Amino acid sequence: MNKEMVCVICPNSCLLTVSTENDKGQINVKNNGCPRGIEFAAREMTNPERILTSTVRMRNGALPLISVRSDRPVQKAELINLVKQLDNLIIDAPVSGGQVLVPSMGANKVNIIATREVGSKQGEI
Ligand code: SF4
Repeated sequence: MNKEMVCVICPNSCLLTVSTENDKGQINVKNNGCPRGIEFAAREMTNPERILTSTVRMRNGALPLISVRSDRPVQKAELINLVKQLDNLIIDAPVSGGQVLVPSMGANKVNIIATREVGSKQGEI
């Protein structure tokens, strides 16, 4: 069975055609612009992962929300659960870029980090 998927490793966004060659799970990948597309396809067929990106509410921040991301990829199946947990979170300002806001979250124990600096309402950082 053929499956098409877009490789998200680089901006070329190759449209891969992936087929399972036999019962042992060996895959055949076509239209990949480089070998990394094969690795991506293999991961997607077995254990797909993504970097979590979201926003978190701020208390007393110069902005109402701060953008965050996980420091490592998260299993795709776990993304929604983690985003729901972040929905209930409120972070106190100020926050610096790269600051760990939530350590060891979820099954993969990823850190949730701020992607930018946000000062407090009074302009203090
Ligand atoms: S297959 Fe290679 S060139 Fe194509 S999107 Fe993936 S990483 Fe980029």
